[in-house]
Amino acid sequence: MNLEELYRETILDHNQSPRNRRALAHPTQAAGLLNPTCGDQIHLELEVKDGIVQDVGFDGHGCSISMASASMLTEAIKGKPVEDALALARHFKAFLTGTPSPVPLGDLEALRGVSQFPSRVKCATLAHNALEKALSGSEEGDRLR
Ligand code: ZN
Repeated sequence: MNLEELYRETILDHNQSPRNRRALAHPTQAAGLLNPTCGDQIHLELEVKDGIVQDVGFDGHGCSISMASASMLTEAIKGKPVEDALALARHFKAFLTGTPSPVPLGDLEALRGVSQFPSRVKCATLAHNALEKALSGSEEGDRLR
């Protein structure tokens, strides 16, 4: 299996068995976002305690890139400090525009091919933008609930 195939398998796997696709019992932060160019919709919930992302869940619908990316993101930030989660989102977005990430991106690296399709970058970063919105503390993010 070459690297391209491995990436495709990873994306497929997250699509078929999304991680953390559920509502949280006690969310402390939440945000919803829409990507109108593709029709992707994501609602992200977080339970933050003592500066740590204790739990995270998402729901939504959209293309395979947006859903796989949300699944990968939740897996990557669970149990991490809030600043690490925000740094990951920032590095991933830069990664998709060609900047190597200084931190490991885990399964999210499988989305590197998306950088060749600028219109799909919004699909891949939707969950990350929702994360930033949720952690910025604004309440307006909950409209899509
Ligand atoms: Zn999409």
